[in-house]
Amino acid sequence: MQNNSSRNGSLMGPLFIYFILAMLIFMSISQLNTTSVTEISYTNLVNLINQNQIISLQLDTSGLINAKAKNGQIFQSYAPTLLYDQAYLRALANDGVKVEYVRNSGTSWWFTIFIYMLPLVIMMVFWFWMFRKAGTGEGIPGSNYRSSPAKKYDTRRNKITFNDVAGIDEVKEELEDIVEFLKDPKDFSALGAKMPKGVLLSGPPGTGKTLVARAVAGEAGVPFYFMSGSDFVELFVGVGAARVRDLFKEARENSPSIIFIDELDAVGRQRGAGLGGGNDEREQTLNALLVEMDGFDPREGIVVMAATNRPDILDKALLRPGRFDKKIFLDVPDLKAREEIIKIHLKGKRISNDLDISSLAKSTPGFVGADLENMVNEAALLAARDDRDFISNDDFQEAIERVIVGPSRKSRKISEKERKIVTYHELGHAVLGYLLPYADPVHKITIVPRGQAALGYTMQLPTEDRFLITEPEIKDKIVGMLGGRAAEEIIFNEITTGAGNDLKRVTELVREMVAQMGMSEKIGPIAWGEEEGEIFLGREITRMKNFSQETAREIDSEIKNFILNSYEKAKKLLLANKEKLDLLAIYLYNKENISGKEFYKMMKMDLEDLKNYVYNDKEVTQTEIFTSYA
Ligand code: ADP
Ligand code: MG
Ligand code: ZN
Repeated sequence: MQNNSSRNGSLMGPLFIYFILAMLIFMSISQLNTTSVTEISYTNLVNLINQNQIISLQLDTSGLINAKAKNGQIFQSYAPTLLYDQAYLRALANDGVKVEYVRNSGTSWWFTIFIYMLPLVIMMVFWFWMFRKAGTGEGIPGSNYRSSPAKKYDTRRNKITFNDVAGIDEVKEELEDIVEFLKDPKDFSALGAKMPKGVLLSGPPGTGKTLVARAVAGEAGVPFYFMSGSDFVELFVGVGAARVRDLFKEARENSPSIIFIDELDAVGRQRGAGLGGGNDEREQTLNALLVEMDGFDPREGIVVMAATNRPDILDKALLRPGRFDKKIFLDVPDLKAREEIIKIHLKGKRISNDLDISSLAKSTPGFVGADLENMVNEAALLAARDDRDFISNDDFQEAIERVIVGPSRKSRKISEKERKIVTYHELGHAVLGYLLPYADPVHKITIVPRGQAALGYTMQLPTEDRFLITEPEIKDKIVGMLGGRAAEEIIFNEITTGAGNDLKRVTELVREMVAQMGMSEKIGPIAWGEEEGEIFLGREITRMKNFSQETAREIDSEIKNFILNSYEKAKKLLLANKEKLDLLAIYLYNKENISGKEFYKMMKMDLEDLKNYVYNDKEVTQTEIFTSYA
């Protein structure tokens, strides 16, 4: 799939680096050698000679004396040659000390300096060479700083077409023209039709932006140059800009073609925003991109497509006519779209006959295409693990959960007490989910730990896709979210960190209700501006809250009141149903999972029936587990 057009001399780089490494190693070794030589004063040398410690002397014309001791150690000393006492040395020679005169043997000062400077010189030459290469836009052989790491997809061999993309009929329609244009640019422009130069695909991650761009290339049968915005932003100023030029050059030579820039926001962020320096590189890159986009004639048959999750932070210049002037939004798929996407990914996989795809789609609201693909793959893996050659309904149920909360971690050791707390916590959510008329129905309760942080969870799913939520629904949702912590407090009379995430989400939701949705009478139907969290990200830095300290205080106190009231309501409801809660806890603690259906059945029973139901279950072996904490 990847075509790294060969560049000559690509071996040079590694060789060069090996050379430097070898030099460094060699030098450190020679350093080691010299350190085993001990420099001593002339007096000490004479003392050593007198103690018969020295077996040989080497005198050189510069006055350097190398003396070898009996134990092999080398001593070095210095005496002006004029002071070489011939009689003394001759006597030494007679005593068996080997005396040798040599020409300047030691390292001269200039050689020493050269050795010490060498690494520096090599580094400087190397850097200088790299910068020059980067500046000219030529590839830097063998390094990662090739000016264009663009990947080229061979659309003939690895063909993705609109048939591989589901649930986006409108998007396909909008792109049809572009496909026609790419198939025959000259013919198309002869008709006088005006083509957009750039198409911006925006939407949440995993909604198929990359896939759509590749499908356009596949449909038109043209080369597809793929590059990610973050590839442009490099350490060296000028590299990104050079890469942009290189990318366009290559696409032009192979036109008609598509250039696809993923994560456009990495380069295309509003200029002059953000704190601190370090934006030069990005701005240069962005400028180069703008220049290139202005510089080509649509008749050349190049379409630039780009994708981003954050169209809001893009530099305005990118969205001007003649640049990314066609904008297409890819949304999270709805029920029907999910069903189609699941079908696409089930192609070529064996599934059990009773698999109900539409109910699969129903139980995956909020899933994007990537999640659905992931779900199918997980289900296939589960089937393979069981040595089955078809995927069953259960595999899919398990796979959905995995996608939601990460892989099951049955092996994780948690203490008995922790499990008891988790049991009550989850049932707190679930029981309120049952009792509150507007809460989302409970789909499943589990205390099998999964994913990064979840020790257990209660899955509550809306009955249909929602775009609007009413006030009573939000209020019930909040009470239900506080149910976990309320149950912990009622039963164990202590508070754990397990509810931290719930509290965070509740607080965010209530703040939104009060300050944004006008759902508090006291605050009124005003959407107060919010202080943006991500002030480093872009131009939000200029957007600040538009309300006074006083309003802020009022909002805060309203949020607090609201949460406290909801919490009281949660506790009251749970206390009124404490016997049922205890029975359910015994059941869940022993069985680890309760399905939504069973849970509703149990909640509808009267106390006697529920008792029988719980205690008569074969798997319920531990029943006296909560008394010590009650
Ligand atoms: P994005 O670029 O929007 O983050 P991708 O295009 O990378 O999303 O999607 C990731 C994967 O999810 C795709 O390779 C594809 O398998 C699957 N996918 C996403 N949307 C769809 C869709 N509409 N139809 C079929 N598959 C999809
Ligand atoms: Mg993508
Ligand atoms: Zn919780």
